[in-house]
Amino acid sequence: MFGLSLTKLLLLAAVAAILWYGFKAVRRRDRRRAEVAQPPKSVPPATELMVKCSVCGTYNPSGVVCTHRP
Ligand SMILES: [Zn+2]
Repeated sequence: MFGLSLTKLLLLAAVAAILWYGFKAVRRRDRRRAEVAQPPKSVPPATELMVKCSVCGTYNPSGVVCTHRP
């Protein structure tokens, strides 16, 4: 009687431990997936600095040499 209940108790503890660690692993995986899905809010959206050409007045991305097209 006692032996059987001890076995059941150990089995229950094992099941509880498996569930606990399983949920922990799933939560960690979900958090990592959420971080990958949406970048941190502190990072501003990707914008490009546009520089006005002094010759033709066209705005070009900084670092891009203007070709002075009409
Ligand atoms: Zn230009």
